[in-house]
Amino acid sequence: MSEEFFWWNDEQKAIYKDVRQFVEDNFEEAEEYFWNTKFPWPLVKKVAKKGYFGVGVPKEYGGLELGATGSCIVAAQLGRLYAVGHVFTVSMLAGLEQLLRFGTDEQRESWLPKIASGEELGALCITEPFAGSDAANVFTSAIKDGDEWILNGKKRFITGAGVSDRYFIYAKTSDDKALRKQYGHITSFMVEKGRPGFSLEKINPLIGFDNVPNGYIDFDHVRIPDVNRIGAVGNGWNVMMAGLNFERLIGAAVFSGLFEDVINLLFHFTKRRVQFRRTTNQFPGIQEKIAEIITKAKVSRLFSYHCAKLIDNGGEPMVEASIAKMINTEYARDIGLKAIQVLGGDGLTKFLPAERILREAKIGEIVAGTTEVQKMIIYRFCAMLPSYNKPMRLKWNDKVNAPIISKKESQFKGMDITEENVLKVISHDYKVNPGLYMTPDDVREDIGGGRSELRKIFEQLEEQKLIVIHRDRSGKTALVKATYEGLQKAFPKEYYQWFPAWYENADKF
Ligand SMILES: Cc1cc2nc3c(=O)[nH]c(=O)nc-3n(C[C@H](O)[C@H](O)[C@H](O)COP(=O)(O)OP(=O)(O)OC[C@H]3O[C@@H](n4cnc5c(N)ncnc54)[C@H](O)[C@@H]3O)c2cc1C
Repeated sequence: MSEEFFWWNDEQKAIYKDVRQFVEDNFEEAEEYFWNTKFPWPLVKKVAKKGYFGVGVPKEYGGLELGATGSCIVAAQLGRLYAVGHVFTVSMLAGLEQLLRFGTDEQRESWLPKIASGEELGALCITEPFAGSDAANVFTSAIKDGDEWILNGKKRFITGAGVSDRYFIYAKTSDDKALRKQYGHITSFMVEKGRPGFSLEKINPLIGFDNVPNGYIDFDHVRIPDVNRIGAVGNGWNVMMAGLNFERLIGAAVFSGLFEDVINLLFHFTKRRVQFRRTTNQFPGIQEKIAEIITKAKVSRLFSYHCAKLIDNGGEPMVEASIAKMINTEYARDIGLKAIQVLGGDGLTKFLPAERILREAKIGEIVAGTTEVQKMIIYRFCAMLPSYNKPMRLKWNDKVNAPIISKKESQFKGMDITEENVLKVISHDYKVNPGLYMTPDDVREDIGGGRSELRKIFEQLEEQKLIVIHRDRSGKTALVKATYEGLQKAFPKEYYQWFPAWYENADKF
């Protein structure tokens, strides 16, 4: 059995035991719905009765208030019941964080108990035919008419389409170009099933999600009252972003419970399968694959609960949520592939629950922001973090006659800011970092002077073809480097030479 983590509180530990038991008790029933490709309504009702849909909802609105950690615990376990896990995840997420942060008291009182009870399912509707990864490019429009809004447009790939009663949607409320640039053209709304003009258009036949409805919905002059608007007009992008870390994390956690079942299956199977007069668990290649699966299962679980703790502590762990989403789904795909390989032909049949992990995992790598989008977020945010942007400049050290990372003042510090001296600084850098340019701030750090003073000198040196300037898109000087002529003018060629002690003088030329 996977361990509880020591930082979970008593209520989180208790729900872990409770939901595990629930899954054990209902595993077989979930399999029957999977085999019959039927939406598991009775199981969903059982989940609702247990109060699990309210795991992240505050107690004052009828929820369990167990935070991101509790939500991860429940999602990971219910994920073992396939369709139930996916439907649970979107339904408990659909508008939860958004209502908590942007809803009025009246809206919270009206919607949160509904999310918590799970009597009605909810869906989260961002994606459209022309708005996928570029989620701000929504075409669904909302136009104000008195105290009402009129919605027109289509959403697609909506999990829980049809079976859900509540649809948390994002619509365009302005075509103003300036507003669009600042993401101020989107507003969020809650739309209930049954409103005239609101219809289900299509249910997708997908690679996975065998008995989870996922489809297109259509808004044809659908009227909703202004009270269904969540957050200020034009604040939809912020409303969407508000829940994203939580949503990515829970969407990732839903896969991790399955890993334990796969590991159990592999041990069970390989102790009983004999080839070449040995059980297959004795083959090193099989052991290696199972060991890799166990490693990934443990790493992804640990990382998910680390991220959950950061959220529960009031943080906004954008990078960690993206990493959790990315690794859980990539690991799920890899675990699916390896499990099938260990099982051989049997693993390719639907009789064993291995091939479906692979199919679900492929969906996981696309849904809720593709792996590429997660990497983009990870890179962009980390590129701005001070902890990853500490000075790492190499400087020449005469004592060891080599460049080493150093915070020491440069030998050029305090010299007059002249063309000659600036060229020396830039040329000296060739000796230290032959393949790198210097930023204007690197040059300034070495010799001093003002930014505009240096910029003028760079331009003069460039005119004389003694340095090369790399300019950014706006034409500003971003990087500088000495040309061959510049290097020659700054120092004699011996200045740049360097040979290891063992190298014979006779072989130098
Ligand atoms: C089963 C399933 C369930 C879903 N459930 C929901 C739901 O409940 N609600 C909802 O709103 N949506 C849902 N989605 C939609 C899902 O979030 C989108 O499919 C996803 O965001 C990707 O959008 P797209 O499919 O339009 O692909 P595209 O955005 O067209 O991407 C195609 C490819 O281009 C790459 N790409 C795009 N932009 C960049 C970039 N800037 N840099 C590098 N690569 C890029 C992508 O990574 C991808 O590989 C679901 C999708 C599926 C398949």
